[in-house]
Amino acid sequence: MAVYNFAAGPAMLPKKVMERAQAEFTNYQNCGSGIMELSHRGKLFQPVIDRAEANIRELLNISDDYAVLFIQGGASMQFCMLAMNLLNGGTADYVDTGVWSNKAAKEAKLFGNVNIVASSREAKYDHIPAADTWKRTADAAYMHITSNNTVAGSQYQVMPTPTPGVPMIADMSSDIMSRVFNVNDFGMFYAGAQKNLGPSGVALVVIRKDLAARTVEEKVPTMLRYSTYIENGSMFNTPPTFAIYMLALVTDWLKELGGVAAIEKINNEKAKYLYDFLDTSDFYKTPVAKADRSRMNVVFRTPSEELDAAFVAEAKKNGLTDLKGHRLVGGCRASIYNAMPMEGVQALVEFMKKFELANK
Ligand code: PMP
Repeated sequence: MAVYNFAAGPAMLPKKVMERAQAEFTNYQNCGSGIMELSHRGKLFQPVIDRAEANIRELLNISDDYAVLFIQGGASMQFCMLAMNLLNGGTADYVDTGVWSNKAAKEAKLFGNVNIVASSREAKYDHIPAADTWKRTADAAYMHITSNNTVAGSQYQVMPTPTPGVPMIADMSSDIMSRVFNVNDFGMFYAGAQKNLGPSGVALVVIRKDLAARTVEEKVPTMLRYSTYIENGSMFNTPPTFAIYMLALVTDWLKELGGVAAIEKINNEKAKYLYDFLDTSDFYKTPVAKADRSRMNVVFRTPSEELDAAFVAEAKKNGLTDLKGHRLVGGCRASIYNAMPMEGVQALVEFMKKFELANK
């Protein structure tokens, strides 16, 4: 039985990538050792991290004005790290569109003033507040958004326009590399790898070099300065070599597939297939405003919590795993990142139809 894993992260990786990693696991390029057994300073690892960076630059069209960095601590560490480096007592604008935005803002408060320009919290994050209602700070140190809300299931369909002169920063953990966007609209963006890029253990950080130079070095520990990673090619200390290797394989795969525009088309088709079905059903409901629906995390509910639980359990028996909603919100959630093939979404919809008929 084919198994389709709908986990929100760590999430499924492309089958081809897993197979290639398996083939190279114990004997990388016939050197007799696996990549994770090799020194990060050795001849074989440097080309791997270089390839990961080059792939990312090519896929996202990133100019030399930006540094591409690999940092441990996940996206959550970026919540504090970016504020430590870029806020320094000033004011930062945050758009509160979900639990992760909220956590990011909370960390920033330790290092300066946080202005919540808009929030959909009272509405249980069922939408993204319209950009023309945001109360922005004209001279903010930066403005922070979460491009895709993994738990709430909402996503900016179009990235917002930055405030003139204010760097825009985005947590793109759950939609990086899934959609085309203009890097030059951002001062910085970051993502934990474990959804669209590879395994957990590394976060991708892309930052404009002039922004990274704003850090007041005396106030920020060496390991938490962006400049440390820039000056040392993300190897001031031992980097997560295996996670970076996997990231190189995933980005190789994406390039072969035709790049971000090609995967975006497939992602749109997958999401449309699932939402079209949800819209025809009066058994399943999705709480998210139609205009803001995520193409990565599709949240829905059956008529009761008991049925939600039965749905998740029954689906698992049918090879459709990890469909339980986030523990904070309950219900069901299908995460359909880049690696999820259309066949997985079709299998899910077939199962949903059967479950509906049996439980109506
Ligand atoms: N931001 C978003 C949008 C996320 O979905 C997550 C993880 N689910 C995080 C941040 C936190 O990531 P990490 O576990 O890598 O710290």
